[in-house]
Amino acid sequence: MTDVAIVGSGPNGLAAAVTLARAGLSVRVFERMGQLGGGARTAEVVAPGFLHDTCSAVHPLALASPFFRAFGLERRVDFVIPDISFAHPLSRADGGSGIAYRDLERTAAELGRDGDAYRRLLAPLAAHAREVARMTGSSLLRVPPHPIVTARFGLRALQQGSRWWDAGFSDAVAPAMITGVAAHAIAPQPSLVGAAAGLALQTHAHAAGWPIPLGGSQAISDAMADDLRAHGGEIITDHEVRALDEVTARAVVLDVTPRALVRLAGDRMPPRYRRRLEAFHYGSGAAKVQFALSGPVPWADERIAEAGTIHIGGTRAQIAAGEREVLAGRHAASPYVLVSQPSVFDPSRAPVGQHALWAYTHVPTGSTVDQTEAVTQAIENVAPGFRDLIIASHSSTAAELADENPNYIGGDIAAGTPTLRQLLARPVLSTDPWRTPMPGVYLCGASTVPGPGVHGQSGWFAARSLLRHEFGIDRTPSLAP
Ligand SMILES: Cc1cc2nc3c(=O)[nH]c(=O)nc-3n(C[C@H](O)[C@H](O)[C@H](O)COP(=O)(O)OP(=O)(O)OC[C@H]3O[C@@H](n4cnc5c(N)ncnc54)[C@H](O)[C@@H]3O)c2cc1C
Repeated sequence: MTDVAIVGSGPNGLAAAVTLARAGLSVRVFERMGQLGGGARTAEVVAPGFLHDTCSAVHPLALASPFFRAFGLERRVDFVIPDISFAHPLSRADGGSGIAYRDLERTAAELGRDGDAYRRLLAPLAAHAREVARMTGSSLLRVPPHPIVTARFGLRALQQGSRWWDAGFSDAVAPAMITGVAAHAIAPQPSLVGAAAGLALQTHAHAAGWPIPLGGSQAISDAMADDLRAHGGEIITDHEVRALDEVTARAVVLDVTPRALVRLAGDRMPPRYRRRLEAFHYGSGAAKVQFALSGPVPWADERIAEAGTIHIGGTRAQIAAGEREVLAGRHAASPYVLVSQPSVFDPSRAPVGQHALWAYTHVPTGSTVDQTEAVTQAIENVAPGFRDLIIASHSSTAAELADENPNYIGGDIAAGTPTLRQLLARPVLSTDPWRTPMPGVYLCGASTVPGPGVHGQSGWFAARSLLRHEFGIDRTPSLAP
């Protein structure tokens, strides 16, 4: 009998699989899609010769994650790290675009009289980016490994997550840049959770940067799959697990949502635990639009041509208003749009001279509204002439995103509403939230601590708990290449 079956080959499923195989266990991964990788896949979805990431595209969390550092990801996958982590186009009337260089001093210098406030907010975090990654990549119920960094981070999140978020700033640009990052979490702006998620990402923007893997996010999944197979593991694609009882293994790790676990476990699940999982909430959705372009995006501000990621949505107040609409169940008239232009840095993504552009926007849960026009217009507004460069596009509504990957319920790419409660209880309040009360059954998806993103931390934690409780192995195996 196999020692451990893994259901789902997302970054967390593969992180668990690699850890368990490295500990000497036999591991078999079941993946319902034809292609492994879950939220870290790359495919020709728009046009031949154009490689688009189907979900995640930019990887500050992977580069900073303790799991991936132990795995030696940077020695296995080539990353390009743009000098400009992200840009935030704004009109001249609003003060012009904000450019977040990896170099914090240069960023602050271009922010004029708000430069000092921006530096004060981020310098103490960027100088301790590894500690920030360790803290945000772990359970808040555990004693913080770095109390001073945690306190600095917490105080800043409290301030940026409150209605005093503008204190210390005089102009619109720096606050817009901060909210543009905070809005990665589909949460009210301001809110403690949005501010915490944003500050974690923004810390990395001014430390190791926001890297793009050569060849696309698939390279990260393939590196884990290669390591797993090299240590005797097996991956079976096109195989959906429909019930826990189907799986014959000593233990099982599920890279699924709490809702899916309830369904898969059926009567095996204790009623009290079932009620706790049923109380877990899912949030608003995302809708993707991918473009194949005949040339580079004609950004009105030419500096943005060198940015890896672009946040479109206007000023802090405008983004907050758009996000409020979405959270209230309506499509925003002027939506927040997240754009990545990987082919600027990685020529393998598009034919010579042409470009692959990746974008998504926030929409109400389960939305079936095609966002191609909304996203095209949002980019056209800050890059006049963009529309004329489109060779082809491909859109996925929130409902289609959920059909493709059941972990994104209603298109919720965070696999659970980002609230303070669900930051602590993810999916239940426990210092070992990956271990379920069902013997040998573990949960490892983004609905578990520490939450969404390609960091592998949930899979790593679930695997270590399983090794300890099911196989009496206390030592974390080496994952080094
Ligand atoms: C549009 C979009 C953009 C994103 N951008 C970024 C980004 O730039 N950077 C970043 O860090 N993160 C990003 N994310 C988030 C990131 O992709 C996810 O948080 C991450 O992939 C979660 O990993 P996971 O392993 O928990 O689950 P997933 O990656 O969702 O993988 C779960 C896997 O399990 C499989 N599965 C589910 N049920 C079953 C079953 N019953 N049987 C067999 N297989 C099953 C699914 O098919 C899937 O392959 C983005 C996500 C989306 C959708």
